[in-house]
Amino acid sequence: MRISYKGIKKRIVEDFPEIRFEKSENRTSYMEDGVVYLKEEDYNPKTMVALFNILHEVGHVLTSEPYMGRSEREWRATMWAIFVAKRYGVTIPDWRKENFQKDIYFWFEVEKQILKTKPRICKTALKLQWR
Ligand SMILES: [Zn+2]
Repeated sequence: MRISYKGIKKRIVEDFPEIRFEKSENRTSYMEDGVVYLKEEDYNPKTMVALFNILHEVGHVLTSEPYMGRSEREWRATMWAIFVAKRYGVTIPDWRKENFQKDIYFWFEVEKQILKTKPRICKTALKLQWR
């Protein structure tokens, strides 16, 4: 029997009782101070894309450290989401995979060129591994 996206969200909430989930006041989902804020579509996920957004934000809570640059934090959160999505047999459409990868490389360039900080890891290490 295939578990619904809402059912998977329920399990995630149960698996991480230390994480607080709130409805986002704006049109985006994000994590702040260990709290996961979810936009309406993600809060009651009906699609794999919405579910993956939840996993990504939970991934931030579990993997982000202050010493990491934004690109590394995005990469780690997404890799955690990929790992869990696979376990539930959730496949992400290519366009969404490309969005995540573009976002990571965007932040890598910001860190390198604008902030002039040397990212801790090289660009090739920030390639998402989907299989
Ligand atoms: Zn993120």
